[in-house]
Amino acid sequence: MKHQLPQLPFDPAALEPHMSRETLEFHYGKHHSAYVDNLNELIKGTPQEHLELEHIVRTADGPVFNNAAQAWNHTFFWHSLSPDGGKPNKLLSEAIDARFGSFDLFKNKFATEANELFGSGWIWLVRNGGGLLSIETSSNADTPLTGENRPLLTCDLWEHAYYIDYRNARPDFLKAYWNIANWEFANRNFEA
Ligand code: FE
Repeated sequence: MKHQLPQLPFDPAALEPHMSRETLEFHYGKHHSAYVDNLNELIKGTPQEHLELEHIVRTADGPVFNNAAQAWNHTFFWHSLSPDGGKPNKLLSEAIDARFGSFDLFKNKFATEANELFGSGWIWLVRNGGGLLSIETSSNADTPLTGENRPLLTCDLWEHAYYIDYRNARPDFLKAYWNIANWEFANRNFEA
């Protein structure tokens, strides 16, 4: 099965001024695309060639894992963004308040942990089997998909996610992220 670069769920200019068309052209059009191409190249002629992407992420290691997980993480990231992402619904709001104290305290903690992650990686809002929320960071290609917790929302913390628009200022990127976070997506993931 040849893996395909999925469609972006929005126009590449739709997230401006918070995330530019140029960032999307590189981040989606070059980086995400390369992970998909590399994965196809690496698994060609191997038993992994016939597996679903999620299955590869859960079972592979080394370069196959890195490219498969980055392919999956980026698709999840694009769905975590929207020009009109709404707000946490009542159920998710209550879970956020219960765990973090308030929506503002949650956003502060999310940004602090994102800014403290050393090097490249991701930050995730996740829920466990009991519905309890937490914030997780992961290094490089690592992803909650290999663990027990279900991801609700993510932000890419690799420099390629923000260098064009914010240069080295990851905290400014995190501030802008709240303008384009897709809470409709998080609401659906929380209830699924
Ligand atoms: Fe990325």
